[in-house]
Amino acid sequence: MRRFTYARAASPQAAVAAFTAAGTGARYIAGGTTLYDLMKLDIERPAHLIDVTAMDGLDRIETGGDRLRFGALAPMSAVAVDRTVLRDYPVLADSLSKAASQQLRNMATVGGNLFQRTRCLYFRNGAGGTSAGTTYPCNKRAPGSGCAAIGGLDRGQAVLGASADCTAVSPGDWPVALVALDAYVEVLGSQGTRSLPVAQLYRLPGSTPQLEFTLAPDEIVTAIVVPKTRAGRRSAYHKIRDRESYAFALASAAVALEMEGDVVAQARIALGGIATKPWRATAAENALAGQRLTRQSAATAGHAALTGAVAGKHNRFKIDLAARVVADALMIAAERTKA
Ligand SMILES: Cc1cc2nc3c(=O)[nH]c(=O)nc-3n(C[C@H](O)[C@H](O)[C@H](O)COP(=O)(O)OP(=O)(O)OC[C@H]3O[C@@H](n4cnc5c(N)ncnc54)[C@H](O)[C@@H]3O)c2cc1C
Repeated sequence: MRRFTYARAASPQAAVAAFTAAGTGARYIAGGTTLYDLMKLDIERPAHLIDVTAMDGLDRIETGGDRLRFGALAPMSAVAVDRTVLRDYPVLADSLSKAASQQLRNMATVGGNLFQRTRCLYFRNGAGGTSAGTTYPCNKRAPGSGCAAIGGLDRGQAVLGASADCTAVSPGDWPVALVALDAYVEVLGSQGTRSLPVAQLYRLPGSTPQLEFTLAPDEIVTAIVVPKTRAGRRSAYHKIRDRESYAFALASAAVALEMEGDVVAQARIALGGIATKPWRATAAENALAGQRLTRQSAATAGHAALTGAVAGKHNRFKIDLAARVVADALMIAAERTKA
């Protein structure tokens, strides 16, 4: 057990001030369902925890006007059952209700979900050595140590966006749906406020896989905003996993369709479970635009979504699986109520 200090902040401004005062080693903590887990594994070693769960009003869900706005502290379980979200944006509701378990969703926040770290076996099993006494190399956990997943047990690893130093999958479901809908986050830090697209929160691993997010360390997400779109009602999040009760995605797709009759005016498609960050599939979107939506055109879009995919030793199946997940998600979305 490593020693750390703990403080609660009553507002985002107070949280940022506490972060600045604490200096190196400070971390925000919300539901704690990821961070405490990683501290127990000795992967995360914060010296100061700043608990943000007492920040007033940051759990609000606003669905009026031309956007949906979710306070960063809104529990995943609350957003998943919000009536407007369920009716008008099933892709968002599905991405949350298919993530983790009900107990975890009650604790976990939609803000914290954006910053969970990979479930790569070699990242998680080895910081302090395994029960067999092995410490696996992992460039994300210990930069420069190598990547045991490359050439190792890579069944769960990424086929898109990987590098020679890291093939770890970005694990979240909710960010995939947000990326498909061009959502953005409102952020506060010591340099002031800013907004940025959720898609720009994530880095590709390249030669620095330890750097996963683009926010400055002291920046805190205060809200997630989803611009309203007619495509919301015809949307779906389709997720294939090893265990249906709860598990991370082997492959998933978030899709939203704007249709004119049976022709696709605009498709939004993002992939999860197969890439090193939430993956917007523009090639698939372009392949569908102006086309009649049929099983055939959906399958073509599915294959286009996997353009550039590279398999390792044991994860080739994910390329075909993900293409079919995209195609099936499109057909599910198309069946939903007309916008
Ligand atoms: C057994 C298990 C199964 C799971 N299955 C799934 C799954 O299938 N799909 C899925 O998507 N997720 C899954 N999860 C992950 C779960 O969804 C996340 O743990 C949760 O969303 C994190 O939210 P939190 O509020 O608990 O974050 P915390 O653990 O409190 O924080 C996580 C990280 O986010 C940072 N942070 C928190 N809030 C903010 C903020 N407002 N601004 C900036 N940084 C912030 C923290 O500093 C920390 O680095 C699973 C987790 C477990 C334990």
